[in-house]
Amino acid sequence: MEEKILHTTKRCPFCANEIHLEAIKCQYCNEFLDGRIRVEQFSNVQPIWQLIILSILTCGLYDIYWFYRNWKHFKVHHKLNISPTWRTVGLLIPLVGLVQTHRQLKYIRHLAKEAGIEKSFSPRMILISLMIFDLLSLLPVPYWFLSLFSVWPLTVVQRVLNSYWEKEQHGIPSRTKLSKWEIAIVMMGGIIFILGLIGTFLP
Ligand SMILES: [Zn+2]
Repeated sequence: MEEKILHTTKRCPFCANEIHLEAIKCQYCNEFLDGRIRVEQFSNVQPIWQLIILSILTCGLYDIYWFYRNWKHFKVHHKLNISPTWRTVGLLIPLVGLVQTHRQLKYIRHLAKEAGIEKSFSPRMILISLMIFDLLSLLPVPYWFLSLFSVWPLTVVQRVLNSYWEKEQHGIPSRTKLSKWEIAIVMMGGIIFILGLIGTFLP
């Protein structure tokens, strides 16, 4: 018996990404393909306070996810043929990481400009700030904690991104609450963070 290997994927009618033939929910845009209406739909806007809390409480690890998240949003929204996962892996490689970071920042500024967003930023300055905050993490206790401010340059970019998504996804509500796993991170990170502070500043 010959196996049919053709047509194992289909094109999502909502975002045009290739998905599994039997999929009833698109893995890229989360639309249901069986006619069901998606109950919750949120825009890609991220409140600045969420970004700050998640970044500080994960000691900056969230920043890596932040870049992944942006690539994923761009892939879905602009039907880009990119791998957000591999680009994120690239972030962890010296020099490649800098190039990838700069590339995303430039892309965001380009998108915002094209969309007529007045707010902007200098990708180079953001990159330099991120590098400086990274270096601060090498400082001895308790000065390394200055590196936690690495989220600050990202908030500058997020403000521009938020204006962009508000315009692009007009009418779609933005997520105001943290998701379940984000709450888990905040709680775990909060405990570790407080213990860390106690350990650092108490004799
Ligand atoms: Zn889709």
